Amino acid sequence: MSIQKFYDKDCNLEMLKGKTVAVIGYGSQGHAHALNLHESGVDVVVGLRKGSSSWKVAEEAGLKVMEVSDAAKAGDYVMMLVPDEVAADIYNEQVAPFMKEGDVLAFAHGFNIHFNFITPADYLDVVMIAPKGPGHTVRSQFLEGKGVPSLIAVQQDYSGKAQDYALAYACGIGAGRAGILKTSYREETETDLFGEQCVLCGGVTELMKAGFETLVEAGYEPEMAYFECIHEMKLIVDLINKGGFGEMRFSISNTAEYGDYRTGKRLITEDTRKEMKKVLSEIQDGTFASEFMQEFSAGRKARFLATRRNEANHQLEKVGASLREMMCWLKK
Ligand code: NAD
Ligand code: MG
Repeated sequence: MSIQKFYDKDCNLEMLKGKTVAVIGYGSQGHAHALNLHESGVDVVVGLRKGSSSWKVAEEAGLKVMEVSDAAKAGDYVMMLVPDEVAADIYNEQVAPFMKEGDVLAFAHGFNIHFNFITPADYLDVVMIAPKGPGHTVRSQFLEGKGVPSLIAVQQDYSGKAQDYALAYACGIGAGRAGILKTSYREETETDLFGEQCVLCGGVTELMKAGFETLVEAGYEPEMAYFECIHEMKLIVDLINKGGFGEMRFSISNTAEYGDYRTGKRLITEDTRKEMKKVLSEIQDGTFASEFMQEFSAGRKARFLATRRNEANHQLEKVGASLREMMCWLKK
């Protein structure tokens, strides 16, 4: 079985004619979705908190802005683009009361639906449109007449047309120009959490930190350790991003490539893979999700904030800041 792909020709933007799309939140994803849909001719309203600093920004960009509950009232198609830890409270208090039979509820990440923090009424379509790129790229690609590949998924199909609604929205934000892949809420949520924990965020930062500390403890200059174990990661990742491992290995020296083959497996051992499987099972059985929501409930976040402070005080952050001072192209 191979993954299903869709393009603009498979989407019918007309399905959004006569409907109002309410985009809740105007952050990374929210601004890109709202502006791209608006410029695709869709009737868009943005839902924000009263006093939100984004309110003026969205209005100046030519969008209609209202409080979340008013946007939910106005919308026939509501896209939730607020942080995952607050989405359930916002949905239950300010959105759910205004969802009518046959409305479409959408997310860009499956967390709250898949783990049942949000249980939408059964008279709604529940879909996902998740661009595989940050919001500013979703916006900048659209402006260039291109798009960012996106996932779609259908969790609940009340109308019998839920997938077409998801495709229409995906097309409106430009994704159909690049390609739309069909997944499920479960698959998107579990693979997303696994990737960020084991590889992209948790895996990469601990790998860099361990390399940095090993060199510094062995008496090498922290600046050297920072360049070699942290700063240069981007060069390698950019090559992989552009042409896969092959392109990266073509560009590095034979010495580096030989060392790559010789040493990588000594670090990512069978034990590491075993631990990855354990992390995956804690994601699958909901252990991670309930721990995360617990930590963020009632505004406590004590452990989370303490960890953030500790990480910010690590030597490597100070060394990195001083090196970046020397790189004029990185200055804001
Ligand atoms: P963000 O933090 O950039 O923006 C969140 C928005 O929600 C902001 O406009 C903020 O003002 C608003 N908000 C916060 N609390 C609120 C409240 N109580 N009431 C009303 N509005 C409130 O978030 P984001 O990165 O755009 O993520 C939104 C969703 O998109 C998440 O589900 C995320 O998983 C998903 N997603 C993000 C990316 C990405 O690259 N950032 C990619 C794909 C999917
Ligand atoms: Mg993600």
